[in-house]
Amino acid sequence: MYDLVIRNGRVVDHASGTDRYADLAVEGGRIAAVEDEISAPTRSVVEADGCYVLPGLVDLHVHLDTGYGGDAGHAMLARAGVTTALDLGTPSAADVFALADRYGTGLTIACVVRLVPGLHLPAAPSRGEIRAAFHRVLADGALGVKIHVDSGWSVESAAAIAETAHEMGVWLAVHCGTTSAGSDIEGLRQTVAYLDGGPAHIAHVNSYCRGELGTPEDEAREAVALLRGSPRLFAESYLAEINGNVADCENGLPKVARVAEWLAGGGYPGTEEGLRAAILDGWAAIPLRDGDRTVPLSGPAAVRAWEEAGTHTGLCLPLNPAASRVPLVGSKNAGGAFDVAAIATDGGGIPRNVTVRAGLSLVELGALSLKEFVQKASWTPARTLGLENKGTLAAGADADVAVVDRVSKSVVTTVAAGHVVYHRGTVIPRRPRLLTTGRATAAELADATRTDPAASGLYTGAGRREQGSEAA
Ligand SMILES: [Zn+2]
Repeated sequence: MYDLVIRNGRVVDHASGTDRYADLAVEGGRIAAVEDEISAPTRSVVEADGCYVLPGLVDLHVHLDTGYGGDAGHAMLARAGVTTALDLGTPSAADVFALADRYGTGLTIACVVRLVPGLHLPAAPSRGEIRAAFHRVLADGALGVKIHVDSGWSVESAAAIAETAHEMGVWLAVHCGTTSAGSDIEGLRQTVAYLDGGPAHIAHVNSYCRGELGTPEDEAREAVALLRGSPRLFAESYLAEINGNVADCENGLPKVARVAEWLAGGGYPGTEEGLRAAILDGWAAIPLRDGDRTVPLSGPAAVRAWEEAGTHTGLCLPLNPAASRVPLVGSKNAGGAFDVAAIATDGGGIPRNVTVRAGLSLVELGALSLKEFVQKASWTPARTLGLENKGTLAAGADADVAVVDRVSKSVVTTVAAGHVVYHRGTVIPRRPRLLTTGRATAAELADATRTDPAASGLYTGAGRREQGSEAA
């Protein structure tokens, strides 16, 4: 007796090289069988006619903390076919775990803490202070740390944080930029230089190729060259056109200086009035709650909601040109490995969890094969996180599955650890599975799954190194 059989779908799996019409059976939270026809009795059935049956997405860049709508993020991820997610940059692991416990949808959740000067560390920390801060965030359950442009580290402090992360074998993520370089191609150049060949997770490479310093095409070419020159870097990019920032204004001006610059780039005054006009026109969007999720909205109703919130809302602007986004997702080196190893979203609570829809559109246009889509959205990120039983539909793997309508490219059903957590418009709440390291001591992590970043693909290259040879 199986727990669940997913019938008549087109099963696509990079790791086992499968692409065929088959039934898939789930038992005890694992994939039990993939066969032409499964007639054994089962407790439940999902009909997958007209659908792809894919490994659940492993998204290594989401936001699930309070500041980025983490309460809605779990439902949004389940709706997007994501079954494992890494929060990339909460100020506090406890915040992410508390929201996951309250709003969870059965997904496997891990986090990385964004180091903030004055909160976790002094602005110019000593090695001893950095080590002590690392011990604290690891004890709280994070996999490691993130260096973020908006934290305003000097390049010297960023380099010291990176070296300490390497010494201690913890996850190191970087949103490029410091006090002396921006979140752009210059920031990526500087990051590659200070990392000095060491491993790191480079967040959203596409966002450094927005055409702010050159053309998007040239910046994408340079980003690829930089990544090829530093093969221990794990890079992801996302497929959404919109970014995610904040719409807060003060004294008639956006509080974040970059928002004013972006408005000017879009042909609007870099002021609160300019932002109002951009929201009204539809160039800018405000993420607003709609039931259990957040959606980007423009027009008069969005302006009213933004004003009612005293301008304190998120903000989405169409800043990511296709001219860099598309080449970055398909670019491969001479050995056949992807230069940008994974597709992520920078989504979660930010409404841009578009990997399935946009990724399958790229498949339709021939920029990726179906198996390559699975490789970049599930298999490689699972290896990078050190999870051998995820990112594949091979028998014995964790039963993390996304069933996707082939015509509409929308997720129909999401199965996490053998449980249906989303089905045809309805999210089914469920306690998450927390993922942490062996160094976590927080009591709520007693039954969490453990991974060791130093032994994961982030440090060893597993999931990237063999991409070329294993790609079908
Ligand atoms: Zn992010």
